[in-house]
Amino acid sequence: MNAADMTSWIRHAAELVTADVDRLTRLDSAIGDGDHGHNLDRGFRAATEAVSGGALPADAPPGKVLVAAGLAILSKTGGASGPLYGTALRRAGKALGDSASDGPSDGTEVDAAALGTALRAALDSVQNLGKAAEGDKTMVDALAPAVAAYETALADGSGLAACVRAAADAAAAGAEATVPMQARKGRASYLGSRSVGHMDPGAASTALILRALADVTGEG
Ligand code: ADP
Ligand code: MG
Repeated sequence: MNAADMTSWIRHAAELVTADVDRLTRLDSAIGDGDHGHNLDRGFRAATEAVSGGALPADAPPGKVLVAAGLAILSKTGGASGPLYGTALRRAGKALGDSASDGPSDGTEVDAAALGTALRAALDSVQNLGKAAEGDKTMVDALAPAVAAYETALADGSGLAACVRAAADAAAAGAEATVPMQARKGRASYLGSRSVGHMDPGAASTALILRALADVTGEG
């Protein structure tokens, strides 16, 4: 993946979030305060603006695109999810290298191993910041199995597109698996057992964002 592919990912993630705003709002209305759809829509629109139309230098490396997107989300997105997604993208970009000279290989192309390292860095940052473990009914329940599936596919010798597809499928399954869970982190945890029976909105949006990545890498 090069910088243009990263930009396409952010833009397509914004499209999928916009298309699903009402569903994300509904999910967050059931077990939160109903702002998740609009939080993310605002955040990914800002991220798209920050990476398109000459906002970055033409020779910006792929990591820089993700750092810029993350910073835009951090500055424009409220709620618990804004800092988590903003930091995750920023960390992923840093892991790829965000200056022209310190990226993987020649700094302009991200290979399957480098993207796996970036996704792992994103997960680590979400867990460092939010302290959620798998099973707490958060975005970690989509992101952690996604990263694990990516790494398994990579170890099996799959190329980048197939690794991403495995990650996106695992994120979707992980989001589904949050339905019977009781929330132990975030706003939904205030509901106790009443959080059971609803998909976690952040897990749903993580699945969307990884679906967007699969779409742009070609095996969506
Ligand atoms: P808020 O909960 O502040 O209204 P959002 O509605 O935008 O923020 O985001 C809610 C989502 O954030 C939850 O569905 C969950 O996936 C995620 N989340 C909340 N707290 C945490 C946490 N501590 N760690 C990881 N994810 C979390
Ligand atoms: Mg909310």
